[in-house]
Amino acid sequence: MIKDNLIRIRQTIPAPTRLIAVSKTKPVADLQEAYDAGQRLFGENKALEMRDKHAVLPDDIEWHFIGHLQSNKVKYIAPFVALIHSIDSLAILQTVDREAAKHDRTIDCLLQFHIATEETKFGLDQQEAEQLLSHCDDLHHVRIVGVMGMATNTDDRTLIRSEFHTLKAIFDHLRQRFFADRPYFCEISMGMSGDYDLAIQEGSTLVRVGSAIFGARNYANVND
Ligand SMILES: *Cc1c(COP(=O)(O)O)cnc(C)c1O
Repeated sequence: MIKDNLIRIRQTIPAPTRLIAVSKTKPVADLQEAYDAGQRLFGENKALEMRDKHAVLPDDIEWHFIGHLQSNKVKYIAPFVALIHSIDSLAILQTVDREAAKHDRTIDCLLQFHIATEETKFGLDQQEAEQLLSHCDDLHHVRIVGVMGMATNTDDRTLIRSEFHTLKAIFDHLRQRFFADRPYFCEISMGMSGDYDLAIQEGSTLVRVGSAIFGARNYANVND
């Protein structure tokens, strides 16, 4: 079933947009099934869960951290994480820089923006992001490669589209102002199971799809 879902979803995702299989709460066997169907990018939102899955799954998986990141958990993912999608403060970026240095790595990161109407979602606004970007020149073990955002959890497709459009506009603005000569600033992480089609139309380069691949999540014994 996971394999069939992957095949079907991949057909709807045009290059160069890449598909991240969001496997949070799912057992290793499910990730292995996706891996066997050719999937290599996986997304998790808990540091320890990601560390434990990384330890037992193949080495050529690209691990994407998509959850809210606490400073004291960065050390668990710093040795191997491919991309952290959820940078929302200078403090957490500094922590990632420090932990990356210990492993002689440079960790790619996205700035997470608050584009939804809900109060609860994490993220920066454009002004906060500009502030952050003006103060991170001395960090040599992190690289900001783009932006990430989550749309409002709603059936209103017009609202969702406008939020993705806003994120793309923020991306364009930051690229021009801070990354004009840096082609690596090129990623826009937006779109989930219910809205990734809209996100792709609005310029997404990374879609984060969970339940449409793995089925509904059971949070019964997970602290989320
Ligand atoms: C869980 C999660 C997803 C995937 O959500 P689905 O609706 O299951 O596709 C995507 N992005 C983030 C940040 C998530 O936490």
